[in-house]
Amino acid sequence: MSSSNSAISMDRRTVGRNNREGGIPRKCHCGAPPIVRNSLGREYPGRRYYTCEMGEDGGAHIGKWWDEAMMEEATILMLEMEDETDRMQRSKIEKIRKNIQTHREEMEHLYDLHGEHQTAVAMMKEVIVKKSDVMGVKAMKAEIAKKSDGIAVELRNMFLSSVQLDGN
Ligand SMILES: [Zn+2]
Repeated sequence: MSSSNSAISMDRRTVGRNNREGGIPRKCHCGAPPIVRNSLGREYPGRRYYTCEMGEDGGAHIGKWWDEAMMEEATILMLEMEDETDRMQRSKIEKIRKNIQTHREEMEHLYDLHGEHQTAVAMMKEVIVKKSDVMGVKAMKAEIAKKSDGIAVELRNMFLSSVQLDGN
């Protein structure tokens, strides 16, 4: 048994995401499922450890303190959770980035459309101004014609009345 009595010091260097050697043992070296026993040793009496049914036969079997395995397991889970959180955040950020890109493209499209519309509106305005010019001139001419008619009538009346006065 590896009886390390030093404090468990683990970080990303020693316990990685793929380092399933650490933590709770899944299988003994002999292939048997691990079991937990209480230590009968003098140094750590009652301390629990992982071994297997054949642990005492002198072969190569696991021997790992249960509390150390638990600490490792907790560290592994924590690191896995951090990785998962990072992964989720990255995918979230990627989603947001794609959304922004889509919106930017939409805005560019709208901007182009706006430009096209502005050009179209300018052209339409020009046409309307030209048309209204034509209409305006016509209307003015008609007005002038009417007015000159009126003036002509008035002048004629004045002329006639003056003639009548002279005739009196
Ligand atoms: Zn074994």
